[in-house]
Amino acid sequence: MEDCLFCQIIKGKKPSHKVYEDEDVYAFLDINPKVKGHTLVVPKEHSETFLDLDSSQIDTLFESVQKIAKGITETVNAEGFNLMQNNGRAAGQVVDHVHVHILPRKQDDGLDMEWSYEPEGEFQELKKEIKNSIES
Ligand code: AMP
Repeated sequence: MEDCLFCQIIKGKKPSHKVYEDEDVYAFLDINPKVKGHTLVVPKEHSETFLDLDSSQIDTLFESVQKIAKGITETVNAEGFNLMQNNGRAAGQVVDHVHVHILPRKQDDGLDMEWSYEPEGEFQELKKEIKNSIES
């Protein structure tokens, strides 16, 4: 897509710190890293969100994510990593080209990803509704 930032990066029309590229996937350092080595993995074909990908695109993307996560982890001597994948404004998606964040982690690195929510006795009803939605 002409006006998509990540499409422009993939095509080399905008600069990036590329760490990996193959036929289907492009990966580069996040310009505003949350931790050292924070990387974005992007399918070359433009899709807006995870729900727009077909199963072969998902396979290809996550095979690359695994390979790249291993390389990042080794490089920055991380003790673990988070994968983050935002879909929609409410979830913090800013760039409308599907991407996976790889966040290498160290014990006590100070990155705060603690979320909390108090359930109000909804489990019984909620699980049925979600199950029905998945199966319909
Ligand atoms: P999201 O909030 O999941 O849409 O993530 C978008 C990410 O893209 C953010 O973490 C930004 O810091 C990152 N970003 C935006 N512009 C650039 C750029 N030109 N090069 C690298 N990363 C970028």
